[in-house]
Amino acid sequence: MADPKAPESLQSFKGVGPKVAAALDRLGITQPRDLLFHLPARYEDRTRLTQLADANDQGPQLFEGEITAQALIPGRRMQATLTFEDNSGAARIRLFHFSRAYLSTLKSAYRVRVFGEIRFNQGVKELIHPEITVFNSDPPPLTDRLTPIYPITEGLSQAKLRDVIQQALGRGPEAYDLAELLEVHERAGFPSLWDALVAVHQPAKGYPPEAFVDRLAFEEILAHRLLLLTRRDQYSEFQAPALSHSGADHRSQLIAQLPFSLTGAQARVLMEIDQDLQARQPMLRLLQGDVGSGKTLVAALAALPMIASGYQVALMAPTELLSEQHARQFADWLHPLGISVGWLTGSLKTATRRTLLNQISTGGCSLIVGTHALFQDEVDFARLGLVIIDEQHRFGVAQRLMLRQKGKESTPHQLIMTATPIPRTLAMTQYADLDVSIIDELPPGRTPVDTRVVSPQRSADLATRLDQQIEQGGQAYWVCTLIEETEQSPAEAAETRAAKLSEWLPHRRVGLVHGRLKVEEKSKVMQAFAEGQLDILVATTVIEVGVNVPNANIMVIENPERLGLAQLHQLRGRVGRGSRVSYCILLPGEQLSVTARERLTLLKETDDGFALAEADLKLRGPGDVSGTRQTGDLAFKIADLGRHAELLDRVAQVAERIRLNSPATSHALIARWIGSEEHFAHV
Ligand code: ADP
Ligand code: MG
Repeated sequence: MADPKAPESLQSFKGVGPKVAAALDRLGITQPRDLLFHLPARYEDRTRLTQLADANDQGPQLFEGEITAQALIPGRRMQATLTFEDNSGAARIRLFHFSRAYLSTLKSAYRVRVFGEIRFNQGVKELIHPEITVFNSDPPPLTDRLTPIYPITEGLSQAKLRDVIQQALGRGPEAYDLAELLEVHERAGFPSLWDALVAVHQPAKGYPPEAFVDRLAFEEILAHRLLLLTRRDQYSEFQAPALSHSGADHRSQLIAQLPFSLTGAQARVLMEIDQDLQARQPMLRLLQGDVGSGKTLVAALAALPMIASGYQVALMAPTELLSEQHARQFADWLHPLGISVGWLTGSLKTATRRTLLNQISTGGCSLIVGTHALFQDEVDFARLGLVIIDEQHRFGVAQRLMLRQKGKESTPHQLIMTATPIPRTLAMTQYADLDVSIIDELPPGRTPVDTRVVSPQRSADLATRLDQQIEQGGQAYWVCTLIEETEQSPAEAAETRAAKLSEWLPHRRVGLVHGRLKVEEKSKVMQAFAEGQLDILVATTVIEVGVNVPNANIMVIENPERLGLAQLHQLRGRVGRGSRVSYCILLPGEQLSVTARERLTLLKETDDGFALAEADLKLRGPGDVSGTRQTGDLAFKIADLGRHAELLDRVAQVAERIRLNSPATSHALIARWIGSEEHFAHV
């Protein structure tokens, strides 16, 4: 459907009507200038011809020759095979989508250029659906530029977009507002913005020179950082809840109940939080600490001064399971202090739910635990003072800002807790609006988890090992992940595994949790496991975050190669929480890639979540940029934090200058790189 609002100006390009304009709009391109900033995701090299005899299967190549024969192969789906020859050799082209008319065009072609990747099929070179260009006379010379490949969308072909962007570049720099927004010394050593854009859209042979990419990456990172800093500045204009009590009595009472004392790191981050809570502007703080570092207790202690001053505290967990565990834990800790704890879950009966909602809106309930459902419209907090968000590093800037509206006369403080280490590069960009506290110490007496890789043929022996550990009083998790080849869901895999274990160990009590169970069923099983009424808990990764059963000391993970290192580390953190020696047994599938093997070895040798996260980023390599780029809610078009990390200090300096002295520049940069601010965040 054409978008009637699509601006006319885009339609001034040849070949752009309402439909194409609407497709462009979906890519965030609403005016000609945006075309220049829609940057290639990668390039293809069509600057030279490869002889068919020399063709290899290492990526796409360009060939030139003739179609010398055609055949139609009937089947469930009609196939066409073409014989393609140049003067060095031949290859077979296979087509699945084609029309008779197209085949006859190919037949009568004088020459063709074919761009695609060669596959060897029983020794025969094959090209599956390559790009074929037909020539009825001698083909023109090859391009001497790399071919940019752009992110596209439905209704907009690569060729069309490429053509429109070429037209846009053809208009020259005067046609656009490309004012240099950096001061002369700030862009020392960089080419001009226009030259950089041209170089990146039309790189000559070889890749666009670094300096040109750096120039754009610098501005892009700068724009992102400015956006977050601006948001942050806006947030600090809001009025924070005012503390009238320190909560010190409650705190000493809670600490006195505990069988341990705070670690130095817990005490230190609590002080950092306390300073924020006393400030006039609302806190926006990220609390980072490895699995098992004791973030939950810090959260409880942080809540006490707020509650003592008559405010409510909301604790948001990523899953129902975890929210229930938190609700129990907080009730254990806070009920003795006379503080009411409510658990808002999807499984409440209507009447109970209504009562709880009523208590929340009248202030009868001081600490409310739940999932993101806590922030639905129908939940009306009487006096929300602090929001604690557990294990939600995906929680975006826009959502952080939205929570503001949940307070009434003041804007609630926010404490965001995560076990996922945030590398400095991300901290300076995606998380630039947050202050950071780090718990860099585990409670004493933890023994590192003994991690081993076991071959899959030995899973039955493993059962014997589990049996011995259970005999000595331990408990085990058995985690099933997705097994793609068998198209079995993790839930089915877990069911099968649980049945197998019951068969192997008939005298042991085996429980099962997975995402398909009802919340009540899940929590019944979890509770039974926590109370020691189950010996083995077979689970999907629903237990990944936060679940705390200190007596469990073995974890078996099937197909660990399916998961990221950070996620595996999270899972492993479910054991090693008590005084027993703990084990994590990795049971990979049959054929591991070299990288997968390296990752498992790393996990075996390293206990440090931060080191694992950095290693994971490196191992995934530049091929998988999306993983790193989309961690936050802002995706970079051109900057690659791995490659451009060395620009960050310079970005930070310039951002500070602009933030303090030049709001207009800040605006212009944000508009240029991120588009209209509403486009970015629905605040
Ligand atoms: P995480 O940071 O992963 O959320 P938790 O808050 O779940 O970790 O804490 C893990 C375990 O450590 C819990 O059983 C908790 O009671 C315990 N714990 C927390 N603080 C301390 C401490 N200072 N000393 C000993 N154990 C602690
Ligand atoms: Mg936790």
